[in-house]
Amino acid sequence: MHKSVVAAAIVVAGLGTTAFADGHGITVGVSWSDFQEERWKTDEAAMLGALEAAGASYLSADAQSSATKQLADVESLITQGVDALIILAQDGASIGPALDAAEAAGIPVIGYDRLIEDPRAFYLTFDNVEVGRMQARAVFDLAPEGNYVMIKGSPTDPNSDFLRGGQQEVLQAAIDSGAITIVGEAYTDGWQPANAQRNMEQILTQTNNEVDAVVSSNDGMAGGVVAALASQGMDGIPVSGQDGDHAALNRVALGTQTVSVWKDSRALGRNAGEIAVALANGTALADIEGSATFTSPGGVEVNSMLLAPLPITQDNLNVVLEAGWIEKDVLCQGVS
Ligand code: BGC
Repeated sequence: MHKSVVAAAIVVAGLGTTAFADGHGITVGVSWSDFQEERWKTDEAAMLGALEAAGASYLSADAQSSATKQLADVESLITQGVDALIILAQDGASIGPALDAAEAAGIPVIGYDRLIEDPRAFYLTFDNVEVGRMQARAVFDLAPEGNYVMIKGSPTDPNSDFLRGGQQEVLQAAIDSGAITIVGEAYTDGWQPANAQRNMEQILTQTNNEVDAVVSSNDGMAGGVVAALASQGMDGIPVSGQDGDHAALNRVALGTQTVSVWKDSRALGRNAGEIAVALANGTALADIEGSATFTSPGGVEVNSMLLAPLPITQDNLNVVLEAGWIEKDVLCQGVS
């Protein structure tokens, strides 16, 4: 089988964009789990841009963090006649019926950012295990000894354990040697900053504030963690995050957050739009150029594409400025 020319353009287009796929007459339906994090609007804008460039149309639904609503949303998008689906799953374990419905209607599916453990969905994401490694490395560089707290993401999102796995890889030797001790660890329902803050407050109380570093799995939660630390006068200890949220990058500039692992969601959104058009045009999942096999924790093999993340610390803030991701006045607000 020939790799599709359309898709060959996609990978190169990870750097600049030209959609060669003809999307005229094609409608792509996107089922969003929610828009809680700042990044999702950026992902959406990039998807829209790619679809518009290809001449395709966009339909979307926001499940507002409800796995049940998401299933109804997908049904509704299918009823409205979409030709391809992009799904940001709220709950990886309960999204199965959406894939059954899409298959019955002959509609290809992209599992967007979060794994859908099913070979019928193309898995398009960043290397989440590597994001976890980068988070732990940046924190460990500053805190090679001491008491660690692990603030994990939503238990219904497979990314939470991918991240935690990468973090553990980096910290394992220091845990084994006794240099560091994990004194608190919690999943965060819905990735909500307020839940992360509450968990952090409880861990501080339980440990009598004997905490030296916090590996937080995203920026929103890092905001909650830093608020909890600040109320104890402890802000400034190493804290990680991811997403390149503007508030988080500002905290990196201010010194209250160590790292935000940046995933350029403009590239992910653009690739999703282009791949969706290629799939709607009949390209098989395995024939998307750049497609690789990803084996899930449960041993399911899916066609996938993993983009590369980049850690942003005080040493390379210029990267997000030069990429046009954030304006200097927003990044440096309050920095003296
Ligand atoms: C994404 C993160 C995001 C989190 C909460 C994860 O699946 O990979 O970028 O911060 O969900 O929305």
